[in-house]
Amino acid sequence: MADLHHLSVAALAAKLKAKDVSAVEAAQHFLARGKAHAGLGAFLATDEAATLAQAKAADARLAAGDTAPLLGVPIAHKDIFVTRDFPTTAGSKMLSGYRSPFDSTVVNKVADSGAVCLGKLNCDEFAMGSGNENSAFGPVKNPWDATRVPGGSSGGSAAAVAARLAPMVTGTDTGGSIRQPAAFCGITGIKPTYGRASRYGMVAFASSLDQAGAMAGSAEDCALLLSAMCGPDPDRDSTSLDAPAEDFSRSLGADLKGLRIGLPKEFFAEGLSADVRAAVDGALKELEKLGATLVPISLPRTELSIPVYYIIAPAEASSNLSRFDGVKFGHRAAKYGDLRDMYEQTRAEGFGDEVKRRIMIGTYVLSHGYYDAYYLQAQKIRRMIADDFQQAFQSCDVIAGPVAPTVAWKLGEKSNDPVANYLADIFTLPASLAGLPGMSVPAGFGAGGMPVGLQLIGNYLQEAKLLNVAHRLQQATDWHARRPEGF
Ligand code: GLN
Repeated sequence: MADLHHLSVAALAAKLKAKDVSAVEAAQHFLARGKAHAGLGAFLATDEAATLAQAKAADARLAAGDTAPLLGVPIAHKDIFVTRDFPTTAGSKMLSGYRSPFDSTVVNKVADSGAVCLGKLNCDEFAMGSGNENSAFGPVKNPWDATRVPGGSSGGSAAAVAARLAPMVTGTDTGGSIRQPAAFCGITGIKPTYGRASRYGMVAFASSLDQAGAMAGSAEDCALLLSAMCGPDPDRDSTSLDAPAEDFSRSLGADLKGLRIGLPKEFFAEGLSADVRAAVDGALKELEKLGATLVPISLPRTELSIPVYYIIAPAEASSNLSRFDGVKFGHRAAKYGDLRDMYEQTRAEGFGDEVKRRIMIGTYVLSHGYYDAYYLQAQKIRRMIADDFQQAFQSCDVIAGPVAPTVAWKLGEKSNDPVANYLADIFTLPASLAGLPGMSVPAGFGAGGMPVGLQLIGNYLQEAKLLNVAHRLQQATDWHARRPEGF
């Protein structure tokens, strides 16, 4: 059993079905790894009894011949999905000790597929951040170099997979939070089309952008998990897409001959560091060898995606976070005067600096007199950014480029510089604003031996195509299979 953590999701599921290993044994193995590597800070909550109870139930289903695809395979969830069996904090003191009375749809769906939950993963507070340093419960270390950030906001998720503390995990991506930490930690991650996975039970940050997705060691494993997570949820999420659940593994292995990969010139411009560029170019060469052709395209409003996103996301956040007032749930200040003072003390104590900053910006851009100048203007440009993609997809089938301008930075390096964090999101924000599916695929290594991610963006509902491009690349290269030393 020593090597269980090196198995793919598919291989582990097969071993479980063959009864070579039980779900309880698999859960114990990963729980022990989690404990041994607790210093990474990836987990915010574990509960051995709850995990083992789920594993026993999975073993009973296995014994009964249940063929659910993920039966007995351990998973861990970003601490932004509410769970009955584990506390949910969204990385915030505001929700410290909070326990949801229900499971989110995504958590329910993967449990139906048989996955066993190991616990909850660290993240930036309310998913606001790019380095996981905004968590109220401490940062996460990058398994490739403990002095560097794992990326964010799904930093705990990415670090857990890179360190093989879980074979697969969930994440959420509002402006890059699956793709960028996946790139920084050398794993594979996919954010599907907006609306593919239900937002029910996902602590809300910016509702028109928030999207759940899958992170794992390979495109093949991501396809398995994503298939279990997605599907319409019309009664509980009004923005859930009316698109049937799909088997995202169905196209894996398809030939790439004739595939046109669009390279936006704005993604390869000034600001992209030379080491990242070299690694991305290397991955693109491999795709060319597999039969793809590279075509130049333009996404002319790429730069505008930063101001547009950092107006729309805080605007929505300021509204979503108004529910944390000390009345219904979460933290309440111990000392206060009247009701208004209770709200103020509670929010002053419960929220961290970045969250407060966004609430203030969001309230400002929505306020009378500024709404037209900022919020409305941003919405208009958002539409144009989406249109630019449709224009680009006239001449290509998928779009490729870097995920981030640099490799993972040092812990502390940008923690007091919010704008530096925002600027690092430039390549992930456009697809988020357009609601398009995007993924990060390991593409070799850059400065300091740190992983680099290749970003692939597809048109709406083209997840299966993206996953196949990634899969073919992973069949031809071994970047995704490399492990950080000691893990
Ligand atoms: N880094 C971006 C932000 O801070 C994106 C976060 C996310 O996708 N949740 O908002």
